[in-house]
Amino acid sequence: MLRIKHKRAECIGCDSCASDAPEYWEMAEDGLASLIQLSEAHGVFEFAKAFGDDREVLEEVASACPVGIISLEVVSVGSKRSQ
Ligand code: SF4
Repeated sequence: MLRIKHKRAECIGCDSCASDAPEYWEMAEDGLASLIQLSEAHGVFEFAKAFGDDREVLEEVASACPVGIISLEVVSVGSKRSQ
């Protein structure tokens, strides 16, 4: 399983992630992208679970974010974080 890590406060509202992966992000009323399936928040970071089958598109979304605030983590069954 994958986990998306998003530093929402630094979003510049370019709409790229919401356009390319609308099942994971939407543009909120404040003009910033929001994770749709938000599962956790720690400090400035927000997290959402993602399907392994979506890894390729999510890696593209992460690399396309102009401010580099999206990353992916691999989560093993039975542990919160393995990477
Ligand atoms: S791609 Fe990055 S900067 Fe653009 S809306 Fe998504 S999180 Fe914000």
